[in-house]
Amino acid sequence: MTSPRVLLLSTTTGYQLRSFAAAAASLGIDLVYGTDRCHALDDPWRDAALPVRFHEEEASLDAIVRAARTRPLHGVIAVGDRPVELAARAAGALGLPGHPPDAARASAHKRLARERFARAGLPVPPFAVTTVQRGLDAILPHVVFPAVIKPVALSGSRGVIRVDDRHALAEAFGRVARLLARRDVQALDPGAAQELLVERFIPGREYAVEGLLTAGSFTPLAIFDKPDPLDGPFFEETIYVTPSRAEPSIVRHIVHAAAAAARALGLRHGPVHAECRVNADGVFVLEVAARPIGGLCSRVLRFGGGGGTSLEHVLLRHTLGEDVRGVVREAQAAAVMMMPIPARGVFRAVRGEEEARAVPLVEDVQITAKPDQLLEPLPEAAGYLGFIFARGGHAADVEDAVRRAHRALQIVIDRGIPMTAS
Ligand code: ADP
Repeated sequence: MTSPRVLLLSTTTGYQLRSFAAAAASLGIDLVYGTDRCHALDDPWRDAALPVRFHEEEASLDAIVRAARTRPLHGVIAVGDRPVELAARAAGALGLPGHPPDAARASAHKRLARERFARAGLPVPPFAVTTVQRGLDAILPHVVFPAVIKPVALSGSRGVIRVDDRHALAEAFGRVARLLARRDVQALDPGAAQELLVERFIPGREYAVEGLLTAGSFTPLAIFDKPDPLDGPFFEETIYVTPSRAEPSIVRHIVHAAAAAARALGLRHGPVHAECRVNADGVFVLEVAARPIGGLCSRVLRFGGGGGTSLEHVLLRHTLGEDVRGVVREAQAAAVMMMPIPARGVFRAVRGEEEARAVPLVEDVQITAKPDQLLEPLPEAAGYLGFIFARGGHAADVEDAVRRAHRALQIVIDRGIPMTAS
């Protein structure tokens, strides 16, 4: 019997693909990579790599369907935000279960998502939409301060800025417009909408939910606390801790709200990652992405009694039709810190890695920035210096462990070099 084949559509060639590769090998699955960074693959022309361009969907879909005619594909998974719509279309064209393409599209588009949430009667902050060209004048009467301005089509908190008054809004608008004009941002998706959303700032604590939809039914895989206050003006993710320490009734509300928001978008089958804010008015879902938690962070999750199963393992089984709704996260607590980029400059070195690794419960410290790499903090650039993982004990212990490890590190950044963004 031939091995089942799963198409992985991904913008990166990094850790998460290696983790999928390891899980696929253990499950006897052949992975077919579809990445629009083919040149970055070790062997771009091996027959398992499909040349796709996420912003050239018709041609990419055609390439996938043609490839599947020669050797059938049995599952499709999107890694990262950009391939979610193509993954949904590919699943549809191949007769495989997946998210409907319009739902996948809405999940990665902040205006479409807000519209769908509002139509479904979910709590949504008052919002207004404009474009770089139209400017702010027409929407000013509708803006409720404090507010958050964000481009509709970027991710990773890029270009997301809190503004407390009209003056700050005008300044932030200019900053986001310059960001959207940058060559590297344009290159992500030539012709992408220069659309911006301005919505009321939602106070409260933030949580993330990792989940799976199976023919429309929602299974939470993990609920994360984000213990650092995210009050702006920029919104850098730092620590995720699971299990959540919120009251069980609040956790139930969070799960319920994430499932309702996924349904409101129209998502039906596949991984989802939701972010929400909770305050006395209820649970506000900020977004539901039609993909798993990103990159290295997925390592924080382990499943099964012995904790031996990775998220990627669960997702591969799910895409091949296995019922994984009974899967449970391991019993111990786990935390990941996405190490923030403290300043713009050229990254030189990290000192103190040994001390950081030696902190009890710390499992790993991964510095992902490369020496001499230009680092840029939010809101212009999204990215991290690296990741710290801790596991064991209780949620408070692993949170404390990643903080202590982070304090043990000294980050050397050369700020003296003049640089121009392009
Ligand atoms: P992205 O897709 O770029 O992550 P989000 O809309 O999820 O964009 O916003 C990123 C972060 O910015 C959120 O996780 C949250 O911390 C903050 N944020 C976004 N919108 C609001 C809001 N209306 N009120 C408060 N915080 C917000």
